[in-house]
This record gives sequence, C-alpha cells and structure tokens, in this order.
Amino acid sequence: RRPSVAVVFGGASSEHGVSCLTAASVVRALDRSRYDVVGIGITPDGRWLRVEADDVVALATVDGQLPSVPEGHPTAVLLHGTGAVQLASRDLDTLLDPVPVDVAFALLHGPFGEDGTIQGMFEMLGLRYVGSGVAASAVSMDKQLMKQVLAASGLPVGPYTAFTAAEWRDDPSARLDAVLSLGLPVFVKPARGGSSIGISRVDDPDHLAAAVETALRHDARCVVEKGLVDVRELECGVLEGPDGLEVTAAAEIRTRTASGFYDFQAKYLPEAEQVELLVPAEVDPVLAERLRDTAVRTFRAVGAEGLARVDTFVTADGQVVVNEINTMPGFTEHSMFPMVWAASGVAYPELVGRLLEHALQRPLGLR
Ligand code: ATP
Ligand code: MG
Ligand code: MG
Ligand code: MG
Repeated sequence: RRPSVAVVFGGASSEHGVSCLTAASVVRALDRSRYDVVGIGITPDGRWLRVEADDVVALATVDGQLPSVPEGHPTAVLLHGTGAVQLASRDLDTLLDPVPVDVAFALLHGPFGEDGTIQGMFEMLGLRYVGSGVAASAVSMDKQLMKQVLAASGLPVGPYTAFTAAEWRDDPSARLDAVLSLGLPVFVKPARGGSSIGISRVDDPDHLAAAVETALRHDARCVVEKGLVDVRELECGVLEGPDGLEVTAAAEIRTRTASGFYDFQAKYLPEAEQVELLVPAEVDPVLAERLRDTAVRTFRAVGAEGLARVDTFVTADGQVVVNEINTMPGFTEHSMFPMVWAASGVAYPELVGRLLEHALQRPLGLR
C-alpha cells in the first residue's frame, strides 16, 4: 500500500489560523498517487478530530479555524505505536476507523507543536515524523534557551535580557533598568512564540511596560533584545537530505510597516504591501558564504533535523548576527521557506515530497 501521512494541524497556539493555511497548502501539494492523507485537526480548545483531506484544503484562510466539535462526536485520536491512528469517543467506549500512519507531518507552529511536545509524543509512539526532534524543537522555540545554545557554540547573537512574569511583578523597576541598559529601541518578545505575535518594537521608554505586559500575555517569560538598526534582514532555508545539509541562497526582507518591523500583518497579509521580499537577495559572494556557514552551524548547534529557516541580521560592515532558527517555518506556498527553495530550484510539491521521503527513511528510536 501507499505510505500514509498524518497531517496534524490547527492547534491551541495563537498560530492556529496560520497552521490551517499551511495544512491546506501541503495537502493540495501532496502527491496523492504516492501518499494517503490522514488529516488530524486540533481545535483551538484542544480537541483532536479526523478531517478529510478535502476538508483540510477548504480551511485555507489565515483566519481558518477548525469548528468546535459537536457533543457526542468522537474527538479523541488514539495514535498507536504500531503505526495506526484510531478515533474514539471522548469516554473511550467506542472505537472507530483505525487508520494506518507511516509518517506524521505536524504543521503546527508555536508552543504545543513546534516546541518538542508533539515530537515527544511521536517518539513515545514510535512514529516517524518530519522535522526536528524533542530537544532541538524545544531549544529553538525558546528564544532565551536558543541564544544560550548558539552563544555557547560560538555563534553571534545580539545583546538581550530575559525575565519571568514573576520576576517582573516582583521588581519591575530592576527589570526596566536591565532593559534600558540595552539602549533603545528594543524588541520585547514572548520567550516562546512565532509569526511575530506578541512582539513589540519599543522606541519610547514610556511604552516599555505595556510591551512587556503584551509579551507576558503569550508566555510566562519574555526576552528583550537590543533593537538592531541599519541592518539587513536575511533568511536562509536549510534542508537535510541523503547527502547532508543543503542551504538556499538568502532572501531579504525589507519592511515599511507602521510597527517598524516584519510583523504579523506583513507576514500573512502581504497585500498590505508594506513588505518587500527579495528572493533571492543581492549579496556579495563573501556574505553569501558567511550566511551559508552561519545557517549550517546554527542548524547543527541546536541539533535540528529535516528542515529549518535561519533568520539573521547583517550589519553595514557585513557582520552576521543570528536572530533565530525556526524548526517549523511558515510553510504556506507563499511563505518564505518554500519561496527560497523555489528560487533554489525546488518547487513546493517537491519540497513536501523530500521532507516526507527523508522522514520515512529515518531510523526510529535514538538517532
Ligand atoms: P517567525 O518565527 O515568524 O520568524 P518570531 O515571532 O519568532 O517570527 P522574530 O523573528 O524574533 O519573531 O522577530 C520578528 C521580526 O521582528 C523580525 O523578523 C525583525 O523584523 C524584527 N526583529 C526582531 N528582533 C529584532 C532585533 N533584535 N532587532 C531588530 N529587529 C528585530
Ligand atoms: Mg521564530
Ligand atoms: Mg516561527
Ligand atoms: Mg523570525
């Protein structure tokens, strides 16, 4: 039989809608003569349900949302270590449709999806899956941990400070002093997040406290970074294949947003035309090599697998600073990661196929 792919999407994070959009793109691009698709949607309130492939495609909007589940509908999905998923009623008295699964593709961004939690579940079940494992996902999702790991590996990261909600409530003025010693502007971010959700650029000290409160609504810990000005923003895609790591040419992001950075609107509502994406970017050969090297070292430093997008800032004198690595980068057809691959000669359907092939070849257990 054909390998069966469980497309897991939606989820309880603030990137639910983005995930629905991604899942629709992936299912449309999947070669259905080669793979069977098992859609598994996670509703915003955390219920799991089977979704037919065509219904996944129908959710293709950025505010797509899985419907809440009617009472009595089977909502628990049992994933079997023997390679099957099965639907059960919530009280587990009825078991329905066991469906084989050979590989899981979790198209979830942000906490509970891109952060090692679902990867841990797949590991426990002995299920192959696309992308990074538990530790790499967790480290990469957490901007504080990520900076510690990258710095320890000799990679350049910018100045920052980090604190918990409890530390903030305890002594806000000490936290504000630490932040202001970075100099303005700063970027205030939830430690774990994505799609720029909860991030503020702060140029005015009077706006700092509100920005911290915003970030802390998305996570119990925040990271405040020195805002790097007069830098170019460049991103590279990394893909792991049978012959090792491949890195794309860099793409550049130029924003003219009101917020002053590459914010959620600019990422997903590009018709606002506040963002210019240069794919590929114009970079001299020395910088191109430096970016490629930085992307590979960043991928290895966190122990990433399968795919990642490495986001960097480049100063006027050509120094590269790593902003972050995303282990499940935006993956709609119009997202940066597929676009940089398309510019490097790997079209979207081929990209999806390569990720699945790589995951199907991976050994189970400790790698
Ligand atoms: P995603 O995962 O979607 O790429 P994210 O939510 O993890 O995004 P970041 O990439 O950390 O967020 O930041 C979002 C944007 O904010 C960056 O693309 C950049 O435009 C701007 N930005 C973030 N940090 C800084 C900084 N220290 N200096 C200057 N600009 C920054
Ligand atoms: Mg990110
Ligand atoms: Mg992200
Ligand atoms: Mg980013």
